[in-house]
Amino acid sequence: MDLKSYVRDIPDWPKEGIIFRDITPLLGDGRSFKYAIDMIANHYKDKNINAVLGAEARGFILASALAYRLGCGFIPARKPGKLPYNTLRAEYELEYGIDSLEMHEDAIKPNERILVVDDVIATGGTAAAKVELVEKLGGVVAGIAFLIELSFLNGRSKLGDHDILSLITY
Ligand code: AMP
Repeated sequence: MDLKSYVRDIPDWPKEGIIFRDITPLLGDGRSFKYAIDMIANHYKDKNINAVLGAEARGFILASALAYRLGCGFIPARKPGKLPYNTLRAEYELEYGIDSLEMHEDAIKPNERILVVDDVIATGGTAAAKVELVEKLGGVVAGIAFLIELSFLNGRSKLGDHDILSLITY
């Protein structure tokens, strides 16, 4: 299946010079959504994943579907102030700004194997922040998966020697 044909390009959004890769058509079609989730799940199904970590908002959609498919847990990473219990925070730079993410301090047990998921890897800052949080909490990053990789931004270079999968490359 040509997954790229389900991604809509929005030029100059959210600011000039950025081509936003809109995955809502891919999510909105039952076949492409299932195909994408199954491709990622098949890659990691024998990697003893304990939980899938996704950041709001688009990461939640992918991570929860993957967790269900893999029969493992789901862990949310959220924007500051959203999680009710004690949290750990990591800051990161976006292709178009600066932001931070929080996780509950007890979200991961020591040596649990975590699959980190997001829709897009651009500069790699967001994914690196999630890797930092997983490792600070004593977890093991068992893989990092994306629907889309903007390879010209070389975000992979921020992610070290992990099992990285992306389904669509620009
Ligand atoms: P980065 O930290 O630079 O790798 O940025 C990745 C995060 O920003 C992901 O959560 C994406 O959802 C979002 N993002 C960055 N650039 C784009 C883009 N061109 N199109 C869609 N989402 C993007």
